[in-house]
Amino acid sequence: MSTTHRDSRDRLLAVLTCPLCPARLESADRALRCANRHTFNIARHGYISLMTGHRRPTSADTPDMIRARTAFLQAGHYAPLTRTLAELAAVLCPSDGTLLDAGVGTGHYLAAVLDALPPAMGLGLDTST
Ligand SMILES: [Zn+2]
Repeated sequence: MSTTHRDSRDRLLAVLTCPLCPARLESADRALRCANRHTFNIARHGYISLMTGHRRPTSADTPDMIRARTAFLQAGHYAPLTRTLAELAAVLCPSDGTLLDAGVGTGHYLAAVLDALPPAMGLGLDTST
C-alpha cells in the first residue's frame, strides 16, 4: 500500500466509528478493528462491509448488471450529468472535506467529483457488495 493510499484511509477512519459500539475504527491487517475487537475485513475488491447481524444485502444487482452499468457510464451516455455534478461540487463543497455518496453504486459520480476536488476525500456507502 502506498503512503498516499494509507494517508487516505487514515483520513477516512477519522470519520468512521464501529457500528457495534462507539469506539473509533483503526487499521488492522486487511481489516478495520475497534478497541473492543469488533473486526470488519477488507474484501479483495477493496470495500469494507460494516453491516452487522444476519441481514441479507438488499441489492438485487448481479455482477452482469454492474458490468453493464459500468460499460454504459464509461461510454459517456451520462457524461453531461457527470460533468455538471463535478462542476457544482467544485463550487459548493469544501475542497478539503470528506464527501459522502450514499448509494455510491459503481463509484462513477463520486470519482468524477473527487477528480474536481483533489484534496477532498470520498466515502461511498452502498448495501451492495
Ligand atoms: Zn466496536
